[in-house]
Amino acid sequence: MEQAKHQNLYAILKEGFPADGSTVAIETTTRTYCWDELDHISSQLAYWLHSLGLPQGARVAVQVEKTPEALLLYLATLRAGLVYLPLNTAYSASEVDYFLGDAQPAVLVGASQHLHWLKPLAQAHQIEHVLTLEADGTGSLMEAAAELGTDFATVAVGWDDLAAILYTSGTTGRSKGAMLTHGNLSSNALTLKSYWGWQQDDVLLHMLPIFHIHGLFVACHGALIAGARMVWLPSFDAKQAIRYLPQCTVMMGVPTYYVRLLAQPEFNRDLCKNMRLFISGSAPLLADTFTAFEQRTGMTILERYGMSETVMNTSNPYDQTKTKRLAGTVGAALPGIEIRVVDDNDQTVEIGTPGHVQVRGPNVFRGYWKMPEKTQEEFTQDGWFRTGDIGVLGGESIPDTYLSIVGRSKDLIISGGYNVYPKEIELVIDELPGVRESAVIGVPHADFGEAVLAVIVPEEGAQLDLTAMLSTLKKQLANYKLPKKMDVISELPRNTMGKVQKNVLRDRYTNSFVS
Ligand code: AMP
Repeated sequence: MEQAKHQNLYAILKEGFPADGSTVAIETTTRTYCWDELDHISSQLAYWLHSLGLPQGARVAVQVEKTPEALLLYLATLRAGLVYLPLNTAYSASEVDYFLGDAQPAVLVGASQHLHWLKPLAQAHQIEHVLTLEADGTGSLMEAAAELGTDFATVAVGWDDLAAILYTSGTTGRSKGAMLTHGNLSSNALTLKSYWGWQQDDVLLHMLPIFHIHGLFVACHGALIAGARMVWLPSFDAKQAIRYLPQCTVMMGVPTYYVRLLAQPEFNRDLCKNMRLFISGSAPLLADTFTAFEQRTGMTILERYGMSETVMNTSNPYDQTKTKRLAGTVGAALPGIEIRVVDDNDQTVEIGTPGHVQVRGPNVFRGYWKMPEKTQEEFTQDGWFRTGDIGVLGGESIPDTYLSIVGRSKDLIISGGYNVYPKEIELVIDELPGVRESAVIGVPHADFGEAVLAVIVPEEGAQLDLTAMLSTLKKQLANYKLPKKMDVISELPRNTMGKVQKNVLRDRYTNSFVS
């Protein structure tokens, strides 16, 4: 990695661009962008950013629809030595207000339909430069940059200089800004390039949002650093995915994408004949989905694990000659990255025992923006980052290096003094006939402190007999793990990245045992 030091992430990505810049880099449903255009338009945007005379490290906040131009703005921000701050398009005015106040960006780019509330916010936070970028890739930003030069010299930055701030989803208190450096992002992109075998003749089916690490960093960096073409869809649509899959070789998705693909009767092996890699992450992939996918396509989905603070930490193997991809696991630590599972005192636990997942490596972020104390709390003295996930290394028929995520520490249920890992119970419930999926949460209980409650989604048309189900669970689970209540609902609440919103469920069921 030595040769990458003191380099701008854009320069590292660009090393992978094909020699022939006239070949297609991005293909949307309406037009194509060649590699030279990526370089030239990002240069024009970088010139424009540079013309503002901002100090290195100034933030560029962006809340726009997914377009190639938005990706070019990200690349331009890197090139200009500024810090990219993507915001979820679903955020409301009051949420954006918080992010602008916290991050104090110098530039704000939004859609013109939101200007009526973005402008007053920008004024309140003294943001001088407010530009527009629309869902069709036009807007005042592109106009401002249109006539500028195509030869911008990418600014030299250090390995530890900030490239982006990503706000975490903030399910426990205020959202925190994870500060990611050029070194964090470059090292991860280079590692994944070789680990997942990216090649110039790959074609990535890109359907993820680009305000999140999955779509922006893992997916885009992978294709860019390999000089591979991206088929660029504004969002996931199963029919569109099926239309474009035959010309693609790699797809990345959240588990829901795979569930929805499988729900299409026409989704079959033939459509995947050019595919070499299906990757899943951001939320747990059900073992049932993994198996159904293998039966339908003959291919196994590669599940990996990462987070805004660390980009990618672990991956199931790409090369399956020595070890296989295993359902329900997120694989082993990526090269150059260390993973350990510890108890409450940061002591490593035995293989097969659940504990807190910690990670150390060049991928781990520099800290939370303007939160030095929070940052210190989340790192051990010897530099391990506390991920907040509960996991297990190894287990029955699982190699000792493989990690399985069993929940978030905030999701851990403590009932009558016993630790209950929701995932363990969910796995048992999911195996019962007629069950599509389940979510297990802890809710306040006068006697036990917390009681285990299971929310169950039935298969279409299935009638669930909850009493019979409970007797089956009794045979498989210790008493303290048994749900004290089970409820049937038609769908679990999920966020845009496919994560089950357990906080929403906890709120909904909080008075189940106390009032
Ligand atoms: P985010 O920062 O939004 O990417 O969320 C990161 C969190 O998503 C992690 O800390 C995990 O709790 C969860 N996560 C990511 N990938 C997986 C996975 N493959 N299986 C289970 N949970 C995952």
